[in-house]
Amino acid sequence: MKKLSVIFLGPPGVGKGTQSKIISGHFGIPHISTGDMLRAERAAGTPMGKQIQSILDRGDLVPDNLVVEIVKKRLAEPDCAQGYILDGFPRTVVQADVLEAFSPTALACNLTAEVPALVERISKRRSCPNCGQMIQSKSSGEERCPNCSEIMVQREDDREETVRNRLRVYAEQTAPLIDYYDRIDLLVSFDGMRDIDMITGEIIQDMERVRGR
Ligand code: ADP
Repeated sequence: MKKLSVIFLGPPGVGKGTQSKIISGHFGIPHISTGDMLRAERAAGTPMGKQIQSILDRGDLVPDNLVVEIVKKRLAEPDCAQGYILDGFPRTVVQADVLEAFSPTALACNLTAEVPALVERISKRRSCPNCGQMIQSKSSGEERCPNCSEIMVQREDDREETVRNRLRVYAEQTAPLIDYYDRIDLLVSFDGMRDIDMITGEIIQDMERVRGR
């Protein structure tokens, strides 16, 4: 069976994190989110966390060498031997070149959506500081986590100004990776505006096809 080394491409808010979590559970392979790992560094106040704090808050990209180090270390862990879902990496051509030399990708899943829908989705996104659960906010008042009742919060970089910058950065630096993976015949695209379950079903089919090769 082929190793399920899978990456997720697509703009912020398209549902990469949501799909990655479900797919990771389905196949029993780790979900590796560079955004989560970088936010954890910041929360822990490590030297790297301090260095990247303002970059994260502006919605700019953390320097390639820092992210590449974190990802290489993580992919070398034993739980990645059967495969992994990379969410938020690669985000630049430099990162993709490093990744393909270090651990070749088997499938690149590209989720798509239009900008206005993304801005709307992200501005309504709330997450639980306790268990990480995400919801789409339905009111402007206080909302509690459906899992653990903690008060839900908005991610610092989910405010509208920062979201617009993240979308710009995506279009300039990350969108070229769609062509990059298409040219080496690894790309599959999914309309990210449809039902979560429908998208998951299609991704699973493609991954099973790749695994059986
Ligand atoms: P989203 O996909 O919703 O934009 P993420 O949680 O993936 O959010 O990333 C949040 C932030 O973390 C990015 O805006 C960027 O500053 C940083 N980041 C995450 N992954 C990378 C990466 N591969 N290269 C550079 N910066 C990254």
